[in-house]
Amino acid sequence: MYTVPAYSAAGPGEPLILTTVERREPGPSDVLIEIKYAGICHSDIHTVRGDWGAQKYPLCPGHEIAGIVAGKGSDVTRYAVGDRVGVGCLVDSCRECAHCLAGQEQYCLNGGVGTYGYIDRDGSITQGGYSTHVVVTEAFVLRIPDALALDVAAPLLCAGITTYSPLRHWGAGAGRKVAIVGMGGLGHVAIKIAAALGAEVTVLSQSLAKQEDGHRFGATTYKATSDPETFKELSGVFDLILNTVSAPIDIDAYLGMLAFKGTLVNVGAPAQPLPVNVFSLLRNRRSFAGSAIGGISETQEMLDFCAEHAIGAEVEVISARDVNDAYRRVIDSDVRYRFVIDATTIAGSSE
Ligand code: NAP
Ligand code: ZN
Ligand code: ZN
Repeated sequence: MYTVPAYSAAGPGEPLILTTVERREPGPSDVLIEIKYAGICHSDIHTVRGDWGAQKYPLCPGHEIAGIVAGKGSDVTRYAVGDRVGVGCLVDSCRECAHCLAGQEQYCLNGGVGTYGYIDRDGSITQGGYSTHVVVTEAFVLRIPDALALDVAAPLLCAGITTYSPLRHWGAGAGRKVAIVGMGGLGHVAIKIAAALGAEVTVLSQSLAKQEDGHRFGATTYKATSDPETFKELSGVFDLILNTVSAPIDIDAYLGMLAFKGTLVNVGAPAQPLPVNVFSLLRNRRSFAGSAIGGISETQEMLDFCAEHAIGAEVEVISARDVNDAYRRVIDSDVRYRFVIDATTIAGSSE
């Protein structure tokens, strides 16, 4: 074990402060990554604040990691020192269950190992990417294509795959009308991916304040959900609605915008239940579904797709000391569109 600098919270609602976390010595299958950038996902905030229940503290969040291979174990064949790599929300899984064998490690039947706050195979608690280095088993390391800068690639490791996977699964593409609810970190990447897949994209945002950006990301239509007319005008229109909102919304109102056999997929993860009136589903034979991140091979596919289509996140790169301010701004929906920590600002590497 050795320690590296990191930003951690001591308890629920506590600020993130400069601390250290322990990393294991790289084993034969491990890759040592020098972190360059770590995105701030709203899930980091939900977790640190305890929105999703009790956590193990101190907790260093961060599951949108982009960096460079700084070392590797003797059995590692896919990566060499100097390679550009990423790590998302998973650092391991059982690798044996039906879901893992099908490349759906995010639904591992034995419980995958999340990048932070989970019990790792060696019994230690995983610690995330707001840090200078991380050690991850080769099978859960992704390759970041040369065409993607590391800062704009980092958020793809969660925001990218979390939206790519349902957009692919529910067939977003040419001739399909897709709405993205919420234009924050996940939402803005979703617009770019859905447009690149060929879908006709509508943004449903709280106001029209970010309309110009929405069109720049590839949306043809942009509507404010604060205007009740939006729900009337778009009644029965969409084949697919992807809800990325971090707070509870009126699901019935959005279900009403689905066409025949349309699906509303929830990826937003507020702590509160989202009640549904069953008649909103019966009409038009609609579905209300959920989706969690994506598997490792699909994450690589998503990175390659984004490189091919020049899709990166729109980022505001911040110094690590500004992370608590960034959290406040994300909570206030004042993010354009993903904060990314410059890991070189995490002082005093003690490696
Ligand atoms: P984010 O950057 O904060 O974006 C959320 C957006 O939702 C905001 O920018 C805002 O967009 C809208 N919004 C916020 N509060 C709202 C409210 N009270 N009413 C209506 N709209 C509101 O967050 P994110 O990082 O994209 O994450 C979004 C959610 O997805 C979080 O709950 C996160 O935990 C979850 N998530 C789930 C997965 C998964 O695997 N399913 C993976 C990653 C994240 P507008 O300003 O455009 O309205
Ligand atoms: Zn995330
Ligand atoms: Zn498994």
